[in-house]
Amino acid sequence: MEFEPLRDGHGRLIGDLRVSVTDRCNFRCQYCMPAEGLPWLERAEILSFEEIARLVGLFAAMGVADVRLTGGEPLVRRDFPRLAAMLSQIEAVRDLSVTTNGYLLERDAQALVEAGINRFNVSVDSLQRDRFFELTRRDALPQVLRGLDVLARFPEAHPIKINAVAIRGFTEDEVLPFAEFARRTPYQVRFIEFMPLDADHAWTPDQVLTGAEIRAAINAVHPLEPEPREPHATARIYRFADGRGKIGFIDPVSEPFCADCNRIRLTADGRLRTCLFSLNETDLRGPIRAGADDRELEAIIRDAVWRKELKHHVGEPGFIQPARTMSAIGG
Ligand code: SAM
Ligand code: SF4
Repeated sequence: MEFEPLRDGHGRLIGDLRVSVTDRCNFRCQYCMPAEGLPWLERAEILSFEEIARLVGLFAAMGVADVRLTGGEPLVRRDFPRLAAMLSQIEAVRDLSVTTNGYLLERDAQALVEAGINRFNVSVDSLQRDRFFELTRRDALPQVLRGLDVLARFPEAHPIKINAVAIRGFTEDEVLPFAEFARRTPYQVRFIEFMPLDADHAWTPDQVLTGAEIRAAINAVHPLEPEPREPHATARIYRFADGRGKIGFIDPVSEPFCADCNRIRLTADGRLRTCLFSLNETDLRGPIRAGADDRELEAIIRDAVWRKELKHHVGEPGFIQPARTMSAIGG
């Protein structure tokens, strides 16, 4: 079947889909989930592998060639490598990647690489065990670093990216250790500004340690040079001037990249979200289970995408934080 490219009402071509495969997680990061967890979705509420593969195939036919699997923690979904293998069979998917906290990578890295995952983002917020524990509420840094070591053995998985959320009052002490880490390992470290998607709704603008501040701190010790920006890239990448490694900054709060946003999201319970901060979502699970054919699903998707938000309003008066946390959206 022939499908037209997917375009929103502001003329942006949609090419990137984030699929949350579970809302569950084995960590409880302070900026994402409450200590006691959240009321998890029931099994029947979660899209099956076949339903995910059908939707990804349909999106891909409409030109969505970049697919990232996330959650919650995607590796806690049972048989996750099998889903990865199903999706990597979809020809129009050009780039299939995973965002993970790394805890189960020691177990799953090989299976995921063999399934066709070619890019991994691993979230690590501190390189000190006690501070990692403080932020994630799990004493898991050694396990995550072992997982990274296993993943690094696969040339197909490179470059491996490490994401650290940047929170004022916490991340300042991590900046130079992460810069050194990026210089001595093959990993590209990227700092992500803390966004108002926390479970406690406790985010305030002054808690955001901006990319510019971190960059200045690193540049004072290890001079940085900007790399050209790829279209639709959320990260601004810099190389160390002496040629040893790269570091990136994802600055959705201080330097939003909405004008160039080509991204949509599918939650684990089959809702389409056109912005991280959307207050409305579109149910795809209901129509699928009611027997909708591809043309009917296409019409629902096009209508939702047409209404994609022009920009987010984080930090502006009247901003309303979405009810879902990052873990329930799929970051
Ligand atoms: N569990 C996986 C992980 O942690 O990588 C995948 C899901 S997690 C929601 C995806 C990314 O969102 C992680 O890099 C995490 O650090 C980031 N994240 C979660 N809450 C955030 C927040 N309030 N602001 C900025 N980034 C956040
Ligand atoms: Fe879990 Fe990832 Fe959220 Fe941490 S950021 S609680 S690892 S979903």
